[in-house]
Amino acid sequence: MTRKPMIAGTWKMNMTATEATKLVQQLAYQYEDNYGEIDVVICPPFTALRSAQVILDYETKSKICIGAQDVYWEPKGAFTGAISAEMLKNLSCVYCIIGHSERREYFCESDEQVARKAVALTEAGIAPILCCGETLETREAGEAISFVTDQIRAALDGLPASQAGGIVLAYEPIWAIGTGRTPSPEQADEVCAALRDTFCDLYGSAAAEQLRILYGGSMNPGNVEAFCAMPNIDGGLVGGASLKADDFLALVKAFS
Ligand code: PEP
Repeated sequence: MTRKPMIAGTWKMNMTATEATKLVQQLAYQYEDNYGEIDVVICPPFTALRSAQVILDYETKSKICIGAQDVYWEPKGAFTGAISAEMLKNLSCVYCIIGHSERREYFCESDEQVARKAVALTEAGIAPILCCGETLETREAGEAISFVTDQIRAALDGLPASQAGGIVLAYEPIWAIGTGRTPSPEQADEVCAALRDTFCDLYGSAAAEQLRILYGGSMNPGNVEAFCAMPNIDGGLVGGASLKADDFLALVKAFS
């Protein structure tokens, strides 16, 4: 089966609401109607979601949709600083990244917390983009595949098959994020194939066939074509290259 490709840009802690407005306008304006079938997602910081929503609603022909970079699993209440899935839904978020290695490292996010986020999002009708990835040390020890498949099994613990349909996985080797280094496309594809097998174990072969798996880590217009050619890589999760409209749209074009 053919899976619809996806390019998702995570802006991380970049872009004030004012700067974000400009970038969203550039993306909407430069997006070409002749790109093929592809889901294009931008994940600005929380503070710019409303600006993105207003611009992309107004640009009715825009094919770009909005995602968030994180969520808290409780529906509402006394959780100072937290943002619920319902709040994201109200800002037209269709996707939300969870389990990014930066959140795991700097905010001590555990697999169990990632699992609770996955359930909260799917219940709200938002598709999780669930990240996994190994350190260089783990890769060099030959343990990359067992490490990331364990991460995914833990994060999907508690997610019933009825909710698994919208899940997107992102394989992001930590040592490739923001470094300019990447695994070879074949190495990345090998891990993505193992993730698909794991999903098959959990939810069956039809769900695994439909599952979209993104590669993330220093993807840019110069290396994207090689990743596109891989059978188990259905798109990209992009940090640095998502902050410039030309670069981001070059990746969209390559996968579409
Ligand atoms: C990321 O942070 O998920 C990422 C892939 O970043 P970069 O593209 O900058 O490596």
